[in-house]
Amino acid sequence: MTNYIFNNYDETIRIGKIICLARTYKKHAKEMNTTIKKEPILFLKPESSVIFNNESIIIPKMSSCIHHEIELGVVISDQGKNISENKAMDFVLGYLVALDITARDIQSDAKKNGLPWCIAKGFDTFAPISKVVMKNEVVNPHNLDLELRVNGILKQHSNTKYMIYSIEKMIEFISRIMTLKKGDLILTGTPEGVGELFENDVINAKLGNICSLTVNVKKED
Ligand code: MG
Repeated sequence: MTNYIFNNYDETIRIGKIICLARTYKKHAKEMNTTIKKEPILFLKPESSVIFNNESIIIPKMSSCIHHEIELGVVISDQGKNISENKAMDFVLGYLVALDITARDIQSDAKKNGLPWCIAKGFDTFAPISKVVMKNEVVNPHNLDLELRVNGILKQHSNTKYMIYSIEKMIEFISRIMTLKKGDLILTGTPEGVGELFENDVINAKLGNICSLTVNVKKED
């Protein structure tokens, strides 16, 4: 069974809520034929969607098209509400590379009908994450390469410098709505290059040279 914890060197921290942002990179908004809003779109994934390195994404029977989205993950260190932009970094424990796996067929349907993305984003195994790299080991989180390969072929390649909103702005925005707690995880949105995943694919995701993640794809039986 999966333990929903970050192994944070000398301390283990339970993974809390997973807060995801969408439309945070211009080129990805364009490829999805959507526009950038003044504030990012927010949605949640359950902690039960988390898997770790060398585990498997399961294509659920309910979907016939799942997509990869590589994202920078930000792990929260302390409880806070209404956190100001200039205090936001005090609430960051560290970073990781994550995949926001999406049942694109279900999401498209939800978009058409004005429904939430909860089903499209919330299946078990839809949030693969790497280990956490502590904040003080990362020189500049706003200048990290994001690189995703499927079966060795480069599919997504961007840099966190192209995010429309800074990490500080995201924390300020989210914490106006919901209290952030130790162990919460923010997925900061994906750059362009998203695409479909198939059974037996092997995905390798890298965040700069600080962390990486390898998972494969199976079908629900
Ligand atoms: Mg995403």
